[in-house]
Amino acid sequence: MTEISGAMKDLANKMQAPRPPSTFDWAKQKATGGAFKTQPTVTPYLPKDAQALATAHERGGHAAFVKAYDQAFNQLVCGNCQGVGFVMLVLTSRGPYSSPSPSGVLTWFDGDETHGRGWYTIEKTLCYDCPECAKK
Ligand SMILES: [Zn+2]
Repeated sequence: MTEISGAMKDLANKMQAPRPPSTFDWAKQKATGGAFKTQPTVTPYLPKDAQALATAHERGGHAAFVKAYDQAFNQLVCGNCQGVGFVMLVLTSRGPYSSPSPSGVLTWFDGDETHGRGWYTIEKTLCYDCPECAKK
């Protein structure tokens, strides 16, 4: 049995520190941008099974993101998926990092109250039929 150093103990404590619960509402749409220079985007709301998976993944300590779409200006297309027909949930395994890792599949996130700004390693991307389109 060897004694672990103070720095190692600090690191171990940090890794076990509980994360604040995510404030992201998976059941709600979120619109961003719309200013002069940025294309407005819409983060679609997820179907129920995807919401449960996203919540469970975040409880496990890793960020989950919903892929945002550029807002469609055509009023006839679905307001949730912007006419794409499906929504995507991105589960990450590591991040955020200030520079992109040379391996793995990455995604950039601008940061919010729960997750920091930077690069995240994608564990998997899941695709679901748009719940709004499914109502029709
Ligand atoms: Zn839709």
